[in-house]
Amino acid sequence: MGLVDTEAIILRSYRLAEADKIVISLTKSAGVVRGVANGARRLKSKYGASLEPFTLVTLNYYEKEGRELVSLRHVEILKSYFDLARNTEAVHALEYWGELVLEFAPPHEPNEKLFRMAKACVEALAEEPGQVDACVRYFEIWTLKLAGFLPDLRACAACKRELGEDETATINLDQTLHCAACSKHVGDKWSSESLKRMRLIQRVSPLNFARASTGSAMAARRELSQITERLIARALERAPRGHSNFITADN
Ligand SMILES: [Zn+2]
Repeated sequence: MGLVDTEAIILRSYRLAEADKIVISLTKSAGVVRGVANGARRLKSKYGASLEPFTLVTLNYYEKEGRELVSLRHVEILKSYFDLARNTEAVHALEYWGELVLEFAPPHEPNEKLFRMAKACVEALAEEPGQVDACVRYFEIWTLKLAGFLPDLRACAACKRELGEDETATINLDQTLHCAACSKHVGDKWSSESLKRMRLIQRVSPLNFARASTGSAMAARRELSQITERLIARALERAPRGHSNFITADN
């Protein structure tokens, strides 16, 4: 409680009354935080462009016990991503990430790993805007993993045997992964290529994953998109809002 100073990513903002805004951000030290920015809608607001979605900022706010909304005091831009705002696919991807964070991260629950992952993904998207889908898949897999909804991809859940690099596997209805011998042909089959990419996502940075995805086949990109969509739908018990393949034509 009291004054808080933390790094944050602005997720979205809403109008509040005549002159104010409600700002939702993912903070490094306090998870998802909703705050009121007084006077943010005035022409000469002290907030300037700092409340634009996915701006990386230092957030200074006042928190009162028992109140869900905090009061923003100062917001300082650490990094803006104006170039991304001109890329429609990237803008949709960022909106979708905001949606995922709000779905999977409970308010005021610190999750520094989620913050660092989101920050690195925005950075990767700015560096490799042609690999929007790879950045989105990275964000989805890590969001699932951090929330405890990603199955173990290393071994078969039934016989415990470690899966080989070129093996396919089946995801059962109970969300565990089974090798071909144990699968009994129930559930979705995942190709070795998709499994490899999902394991890679867990090992490297989003920028390295985006770069490693250059030149990967359309079918492989589509399959991975379908896999994450189903995993998220099962976790949320409905289709995720804003999910798309995000595969751009020049890939
Ligand atoms: Zn098995």
